[in-house]
Amino acid sequence: MTTPNFRFEVDADGVALIVWDMPGRSMNVLTPEAIEDLDGLIDKVAADAAIQGAVVTSGKETFSGGADLTMLQGMASEYARVAKAEGEEKAMRVFFDRSRQLSLIYRKLESCGKPFAAAINGVCMGGAFELALACHYRIVADSDKARVGLPEIKVGLFPGAGGTQRVARLMPTPDALQMLFRGDQLKPAAAKRMGLVHDVAPAGEIVARAKAWVKANLNAKAPWDDPKFKAPSGKVFSPAGMMIWPPANAILRRETYDNYPAAKAILACVFEGLQLPIDLALAVESRYFAKILRSKEAAAMIRSLFVSKGELDKGARRPAGVAPTNLRKVGIIGAGFMGAGVAYVAASAGLEVVLIDRDQEAADKGKAHSEKLISNQIAKGRAKSADRDALLARIHATPDYAALKGCDLVVEAVFEDRGVKNEATKKAQAVVGGEVIFASNTSTLPIASLAETAEKPENFIGVHFFSPVDKMMLAEVIMGAKTGPRALATALDFVRAIKKTPIVVNDCRGFFVNRCVTAYMVEAHKMLVEGVPPAMIENAARMAGMPVGPLALNDEVGVDLSWKILQAAKKDLGPQAVDPQQEALIEAMVVREQRFGRKNGKGFYDYPASGTKSLWPGLAEIAGKALDADTIDVQELKDRFLYTAALEAARCFEEGIVTDPREADLGSILGFGFAPFTGGVLSLIDGLGAKAFVARAEALAARHGPSFAPSEGLKAMAANGETFYGRAAKKAAA
Ligand code: NAD
Repeated sequence: MTTPNFRFEVDADGVALIVWDMPGRSMNVLTPEAIEDLDGLIDKVAADAAIQGAVVTSGKETFSGGADLTMLQGMASEYARVAKAEGEEKAMRVFFDRSRQLSLIYRKLESCGKPFAAAINGVCMGGAFELALACHYRIVADSDKARVGLPEIKVGLFPGAGGTQRVARLMPTPDALQMLFRGDQLKPAAAKRMGLVHDVAPAGEIVARAKAWVKANLNAKAPWDDPKFKAPSGKVFSPAGMMIWPPANAILRRETYDNYPAAKAILACVFEGLQLPIDLALAVESRYFAKILRSKEAAAMIRSLFVSKGELDKGARRPAGVAPTNLRKVGIIGAGFMGAGVAYVAASAGLEVVLIDRDQEAADKGKAHSEKLISNQIAKGRAKSADRDALLARIHATPDYAALKGCDLVVEAVFEDRGVKNEATKKAQAVVGGEVIFASNTSTLPIASLAETAEKPENFIGVHFFSPVDKMMLAEVIMGAKTGPRALATALDFVRAIKKTPIVVNDCRGFFVNRCVTAYMVEAHKMLVEGVPPAMIENAARMAGMPVGPLALNDEVGVDLSWKILQAAKKDLGPQAVDPQQEALIEAMVVREQRFGRKNGKGFYDYPASGTKSLWPGLAEIAGKALDADTIDVQELKDRFLYTAALEAARCFEEGIVTDPREADLGSILGFGFAPFTGGVLSLIDGLGAKAFVARAEALAARHGPSFAPSEGLKAMAANGETFYGRAAKKAAA
């Protein structure tokens, strides 16, 4: 038998070493071929009388990232194919059998009568960690990079190869549920503390220690295969169980608002599974897994958050034919809130940074931000003091523009003022020249207009970061009318170097993300004016799947900024561009009440120096009207939030601001947390179907005004039964 994805050897004591080492890949992943090989090797260990037991490890730098999600994606289309050809029942059977294949293989490993140990040498996630969980012993390398975990929930799935059952039998139920719901990546010491692994040892020793364990435990079996096994939290139906399950239900609803079928399935799997012997429990898990794998939430999340993200991260939009940029040193002008954040992520990525501000004090203040962030990492055990010293040594803070000499890229993050930006561009280009790519972090000023100051507008581009820069994973790259391919390639190379996900959009007021997020916040302003209670506005948005309510979000970005944007829109586009009631509300907040948001401790919320924020009681008076909450249709509020952002995205698509549905979707999720279970703004429309979406949008337009009116393009899609992704696929094939 040949197993191209695994090496196999047996030592003199009869202990087999199974080394997972897939050819041509930097990381092991569970593909159909790898699963087949593993299956064969387990049979071999079980059947060969000369083999006492086995150690599974990896020949790569890390263990494995888990299952190939495109394989799971493929299963859904296989279902549709079989259903069409041989009927729904047959399709269901085939799908169920395939979706539980891995679970059965792992159970075979666990119950074959011979001991298996996992020697985990690095990252071990998802289906790979489920393999380790099925082994009778787990030892992890004591390395900074080693992590174990079951992150399936992050793409709308759950661990369906025994993960829910084994974790729930290793840990107290509340901890197990939390681990499965959160999908955290655990460091070795934490995993040991939680009882998920048995030991942690220096990387060079784990295989030998795993082998020694196998030799000393030839009769090993899983704890749950012992008839006397008791789960850590006892029986489900017991006084202790009754303390756990009612709140578990409540927590699920609080955290998910029932938007994530996978989270609900985890709860059901653990609740039902803990009442059954392991084999039946695994069958229960498999049934839920097959159901969730076919859910539209899983399909949308896998597509956007795994497949599309991977493609964009790897440079799907990078112009072919431009050689990779050799980025060593970047200049950042403006060491304020954003510039300081960009300096930190660039220096963290190993780049030399020249951080410029108007005077030494301001530049140093920007650098101090990096010191604070890396010190926080040290306090959390995620970095060492040597990392801090090296990071800070890479940042040269100065008011002297001459220090920009030798920079491979310049990022500008000075005040949002055309004059200040133009002056900074000129001063920088006097030093570096016009060939060095120049990127502006403007959030509102059209790139083409800023590029006019540049020596060569083709080398001028927008790279719009989101705050806080160290946490927000998106960078919106903006093409001015004259921006050339080298500028785009360099910007994308920079974004990749600092490990953010890029979307590439065309120039316009607000670009893409801010247009959608503004629509979301404006809807909340309109609701306030209508008299919807503020708490209801915030809750309805969270129920719709948004992580932060629109009023809280507005406070974060600044209510004064909303005021400035309103005024600029009125000046540039005329008074009809703004809703007078919304304008009056924001004027009262900003001009009369001086409520600017979190920055001055008062916005839609009050921010006491100590204690938690709470909605400002004065809002009722400013709104002037109060509806009885019981008369308000909550579903309509939820729809208004999702539809207004999706409609704006569709407009951006028609105007050619965003040109790829993958970018619109990821931009919305990573840029402002748009209901991830939908897969993003355009996936929401595709998922509902353009026809249903248009019908609902028209109904909302009749009640809430023309901002909900679907565009002609959407109506045409509805009439032709088209989807954004279907059209993109056709275009790519043409
Ligand atoms: P900020 O006021 O915190 O920082 C601006 C910095 O630029 C200040 O430190 C200032 O001293 C410095 N500066 C001004 N003129 C300068 C000059 N000629 N040379 C060198 N330094 C100079 O502002 P910010 O929030 O960091 O915003 C910076 C840019 O980023 C703006 O264009 C803004 O629109 C954009 N932006 C902001 C956010 C946000 O959430 N704050 C998000 C995305 C983009």
